[in-house]
Amino acid sequence: MEAKPEIIFRSKLPDIYIPKHLPLHSYCFENISSFSHRPCLIDGATGHEYTYAEVELTSRKVGSALYKHGISKGDVIMILLPNSSEFVFSFLGASYIGAMSTMANPFFTSAEIVKQAKASGAKIIVTQSVHVAKVKDFASENSIKVVSIDSTVDGCLHFSELISGDENELPVVDISPDDVVALPYSSGTTGLPKGVMLTHKGLVTSVAQQVDGENPNLWIHSEDVLICVLPLFHIYSLNSILLCGLRAGAAILIMQKFDIVPFLELIQRYKVTIGPFVPPIVLTIAKNEEIVDKYDLSSIRTVMSGAAPLGKELEDTVRSKFTNAKLGQGYGMTEAGPVLAMCLAFAKEPFEIKSGACGTVVRNAEMKIVDPETGASLPRNQRGEICIRGDQIMKGYLNDPESTKRTIVDGWLHTGDIGMIDDDDELFIVDRLKELIKYKGFQVAPAELEALLLTHPDISDAAVVPMIEENAGEVPVAFVVKSNGSTVTEAEIKQFISKQVVFYKRINRVFFVETIPKSPSGKILRKDLRAKLAAGVPN
Ligand code: AMP
Repeated sequence: MEAKPEIIFRSKLPDIYIPKHLPLHSYCFENISSFSHRPCLIDGATGHEYTYAEVELTSRKVGSALYKHGISKGDVIMILLPNSSEFVFSFLGASYIGAMSTMANPFFTSAEIVKQAKASGAKIIVTQSVHVAKVKDFASENSIKVVSIDSTVDGCLHFSELISGDENELPVVDISPDDVVALPYSSGTTGLPKGVMLTHKGLVTSVAQQVDGENPNLWIHSEDVLICVLPLFHIYSLNSILLCGLRAGAAILIMQKFDIVPFLELIQRYKVTIGPFVPPIVLTIAKNEEIVDKYDLSSIRTVMSGAAPLGKELEDTVRSKFTNAKLGQGYGMTEAGPVLAMCLAFAKEPFEIKSGACGTVVRNAEMKIVDPETGASLPRNQRGEICIRGDQIMKGYLNDPESTKRTIVDGWLHTGDIGMIDDDDELFIVDRLKELIKYKGFQVAPAELEALLLTHPDISDAAVVPMIEENAGEVPVAFVVKSNGSTVTEAEIKQFISKQVVFYKRINRVFFVETIPKSPSGKILRKDLRAKLAAGVPN
């Protein structure tokens, strides 16, 4: 029998030209002559502004200094920073010399940081002085250099030494489109966090899919002011705010952390035009109407929400508080580069996207919806696993060909998300097949917490699944089988985990059970546990 042709969906907009041959930094700064003296980075806390010309020059200097400190093509630097201009200079500096950046949450515990630094083979760690203690021992045992961006710390370099690099000594490096430039960590559809290899070509393609082409400035133009409050160590912010902002020539207003009052003040003061948010930020806005109503937010023309579902009520909040704004949703996954779909409500010929939809597939890409059981591609309006193909997806997982092979099949990246595409080419995400838990958009990998739980002498088996929670979206909860005769309590187990992980991975509830449901092959039947939770919190 002849194989049925695959059912493939594409963007509503035509394909565009993408300069995939350019290294990421050259692509971002390709049009810089039109806006070199305009503000590029604005530090929200100090008001300090860097023009485009200054950002380009400083990044080159940092690249040159990194090279002098032993970083060359193919090497990895770890950026362990909150949002800051130093983050941007380090990332772009590494790109100039063909090196890769692995980004991590600075609030990670020492163990979490060391795991990623080791796995990625980082040779330099750029961080704040308060976090140095967490990496110091590991760094000195492995001859890794640590750079502090603020106070000077004994035994560490200071960022001023990187900024004072000589741009004339920036080496000429032959960067190929398939070279890796960013190495975020993600657990993907299963297992532990893995290094996601995003190439120059991949990120150039992804940024172009969002802001380049026939319909220029799909969601950002050079007069825009973007507020960058989402953490740059997550690929959503790095790509869709920083890189897209740079390419478009917009001003990027950097905020280190989200606090409602300074956030509203900054929007008003700098007349922010674009707000790339996540649902928890919109929720905080919804819950603080009295404060929000004191500020003039009329400058905002676009609110973009991504990383987790927004929901109808929060959509209404955006519409009522940002009265001049169009609302767009985006759908991303680190491995996908990350943007798979976005709303085009603000394209050249605007059209409304239905409530609950997360847009249509990005241009120059293909999407299919497959039956998770049979792998057959499904027609419109049928639910199945979302798969995407195109130059923007990851090259693979670092040093993990097995996981790569499971995730990318015949060029198709399998997302582990369940969705459907309707008659108007709009994508709806309806469920998640994969293990991942998302706390306010942050990833929590159940396998990581299960591995920690199993190191406790009083625990003989454990499974971690998401529980719906209003503020965070989801929180991790554990089902635990006690070892024979153990009297361990919920509080003890929670504390045991808390000490080892960043705050959002803390276990919210522990449910003691006799056995963990498993398939004949030993796989945890997470669906059954999720169903148990949905039926009411077990006693
Ligand atoms: P990350 O790799 O951390 O960006 O997480 C990716 C996952 O977040 C996706 O595979 C989805 O499960 C979820 N996600 C991202 N954007 C959305 C969205 N707009 N609606 C629902 N879930 C989303």
